[in-house]
Amino acid sequence: MEKAHLIISLDFELHWGRFDKYSLASNHAYYQHTREVVPRILDLFSKYQIKATWATVGMLMCENQEEWNAYQPEELPTFKNQKFSAYHWLHTQKDLYEKDLFAPDLVNQVIHTPGQELGSHSFAHYYSMEEGQTISQWKADLRAAKKIARDKFGKNIESLVFPRNQYSEEVIQAAQQEGFYIFRTNPEDWFWKEVEKESLPKKVFRTGDTLFPLGLKTSYTPFEKEGDILRLPASRILRPYRKGSLFNGLRIARIKGEIDTAIRNKEIYHLWWHPHNFGNYPVENLKILEEFLIWIKSKVDLGDLVSESMESMNQKISAAITS
Ligand SMILES: [Zn+2]
Repeated sequence: MEKAHLIISLDFELHWGRFDKYSLASNHAYYQHTREVVPRILDLFSKYQIKATWATVGMLMCENQEEWNAYQPEELPTFKNQKFSAYHWLHTQKDLYEKDLFAPDLVNQVIHTPGQELGSHSFAHYYSMEEGQTISQWKADLRAAKKIARDKFGKNIESLVFPRNQYSEEVIQAAQQEGFYIFRTNPEDWFWKEVEKESLPKKVFRTGDTLFPLGLKTSYTPFEKEGDILRLPASRILRPYRKGSLFNGLRIARIKGEIDTAIRNKEIYHLWWHPHNFGNYPVENLKILEEFLIWIKSKVDLGDLVSESMESMNQKISAAITS
């Protein structure tokens, strides 16, 4: 490649990404802020001509619970621990505030903003490595994810981000059979291997690694495509601003340093986060993002860096292979 490339992917999920960990009742304000933040992020991407992939949970694309019922896949996951099932979770809720769950209005804004790709984060925030579920159920989930994006937004989605970043080779092959070709995979470091088998050292290293350079490499030369499958490993998560944290500045400085390395080596850097990460301090987080995007834009204007979504990166790599 002649230049470095920055890919941004966002895991867009609202409560669907958190139902097994947090209660809905105590998070209304958090999701309300998230709903307000998404159009602001889109404004910033538009203003600074930044491309991104919005890996969206299929359930979030529903209008309401009635539509949610209608779009259920033909097979539901039989997790050994049902706390991992979004279907099970919803049926145990008494009061559902639909705005914390469904946001087709925001998905519409995403697809109408230049440079933004609608990707998938599975239909049900499906944990493809949890015990009890099957490959056939995983494939049914992905068909449901494709169907709702096609029916409601006219989009054929081909980029996939795995919920909780868990997957295996078999899981990737199954997704390819269902029409997904571009995957955000994990960094090559040991503490990102088999994330579903969580251990404290792994977790400590992953958290520590956002501050100190514990990993080996954060940017990479484009991988060979294997058939039609393209893996685009994550470089780093953009962690949100925290009040009083000494590391607020350090986190961004570190990402900029890594992007400078990617620029020197003409490599790919893949940054990701969840829009809801901005839900606690939306003003501070948007300010930090804008300053960061101004810095990115300056690198783009110098001709050192190109902004990409997962899909546009795939097109470029495919073109390079065939030419
Ligand atoms: Zn997620």
